[in-house]
Amino acid sequence: MCSNLKGRHISAKGVALRNNNKKYMKKLFFIITLSFLFASCVNKTSVDLIIKGATVYTIDSSFTIAEAIAVKDGKITATGSSADMLKNYEAKETIDAAGKFIYPGFIDAHAHFVGYGLGLQTVNLVGTESWEDILHHLGDAGKTMDTAAWLIGRGWDQNDWPVKEFPNKEKLDAMFPNRPVFITRVDGHAAIANQKAMDLAGVQPGTSLTGGQVETKNGKLTGILIDNAVDLVSAKIPPHTIAQIKTALLAAQQNCFAVGLTTVDDCGLDYDAILFIDSLQKAGDLKMRIYAMLSDNKKNFDFISSKGKIKTDNLTVRSFKVYADGALGSRGACLLQPYNDKPGWSGFLLSPATHFDSVAAVIYKMGFQMCTHAIGDSGNRVILQAYARQLKGKNDLRWRIEHAQVVNPNDLRLFGENNIVASVQPTHATSDMYWAGNRLGPERVKNAYAYNDLLKQNGWLPLGTDFPVEDISPFKTFYAAVVRKDARGFPADGFQPENALTRQDALRGMTIWAAKANFEENEKGSLEKGKFADFIILDQDLLKTAAEKILQTKVITTFINGKKVFNANNTNGN
Ligand SMILES: [Zn+2]
Repeated sequence: MCSNLKGRHISAKGVALRNNNKKYMKKLFFIITLSFLFASCVNKTSVDLIIKGATVYTIDSSFTIAEAIAVKDGKITATGSSADMLKNYEAKETIDAAGKFIYPGFIDAHAHFVGYGLGLQTVNLVGTESWEDILHHLGDAGKTMDTAAWLIGRGWDQNDWPVKEFPNKEKLDAMFPNRPVFITRVDGHAAIANQKAMDLAGVQPGTSLTGGQVETKNGKLTGILIDNAVDLVSAKIPPHTIAQIKTALLAAQQNCFAVGLTTVDDCGLDYDAILFIDSLQKAGDLKMRIYAMLSDNKKNFDFISSKGKIKTDNLTVRSFKVYADGALGSRGACLLQPYNDKPGWSGFLLSPATHFDSVAAVIYKMGFQMCTHAIGDSGNRVILQAYARQLKGKNDLRWRIEHAQVVNPNDLRLFGENNIVASVQPTHATSDMYWAGNRLGPERVKNAYAYNDLLKQNGWLPLGTDFPVEDISPFKTFYAAVVRKDARGFPADGFQPENALTRQDALRGMTIWAAKANFEENEKGSLEKGKFADFIILDQDLLKTAAEKILQTKVITTFINGKKVFNANNTNGN
């Protein structure tokens, strides 16, 4: 009211002043705009890389989703909207992700990286359909693998062939007259060797031994070796050379990058293998980050007790891998009650229970992490109780039980009460579901692969694969964890779906929770300022894509330290 009155009675002098003010304000506005533009140019922070136009799942504590990411010196500088990143940062390289999806690089919390790499240097004959099929595989492999070395294969089974008889080595000799070839049957109890291998092992027609057979026909070696005769030839295979191990690790690394893995836990290595990994990483050949667990043997304890923990950007060594029992499939897992399909048999512990107590005491004193393979409910109980005796309640030592496959419901609380970490592999659930009920019976199987029950204990749960026991693909882990079906969609309702994880939790299990299981959550596992720029670009949104399409997810690019290490369009990563 008042201002309206004033406005009506404004003087001529006042009008002149107001016009002057207007001019002044225009000038001021022009200067401010100029200086702002100038300032925004010079004040932009320079970074190495900006990726814009993506859906960025940061996997931070509030599950923030961003559009863009800025990287400098191998670390994450910032995440945010594309507009903000471009406004605040000037990059040497800018990539438009064109709407694709960015996640932290996957971490496999339980694998056997070295074993997988060495396995890649042998010919996989699982599922071969005939002797001719095997020869075909060997012929292909012979061209690419180190031609001076033994050609080794494994996994054939004549029961899968139309003619279910052992073959004869004649064609093998013709293909490989000068190179030893040795291929073992799927169960390891039989093998086929060519003449060159037989010669190197000194095996001749008439060679006899107890507990084995060297097969002959018409006085000639057929190439078939049964039981202990297998060892006559396998004992002559030279140990891997340094060059072969290097080739194996680099091949393993390339396959891992192609499925989005940027860190893997190698569960059980000797210290010399770990030192070799360290040397390859320091030389820049091996870019894969490794969390290495030492195997439970005296030379490793002796080595590390003088050396202490090992920590570089690429390698962490601060844990021991111990075995409580065997596997459920072969009925080696130690159960509280006999197997449902083998009355009177409960499996067994691989060491006396006192061993676990004494090892736990040593590891506790060293301030190391203990990681124990336990499958059966008895194996898990023995280890949980041995851990509890050392840990005595809440702690941050993150002692792990690897697999935690069958856990008696009465023992679940021991995980939470002592902050014991269950390190689980969701594909084991969907690989074993066809026969796990036979082993355990309809009631006890409900206590198996109980990932949701285990998650509730500590509120976090690291996930892995156990490759090469399972496939290396993290997408198979994700699918098995959230859908609990096989690739064909069986069973229709999922296997014990009450223990499926949510998509968010499965992703956390493959990133930040896996990092936490390795004491590395402050440097990796999420896309946050200051962490390693280890991330992947995927063609699908794992949070939203239809369940039946999850397994088709492809990695477009994998980055470690902000550098491309895999590019789907160029497998050299450049
Ligand atoms: Zn394993």
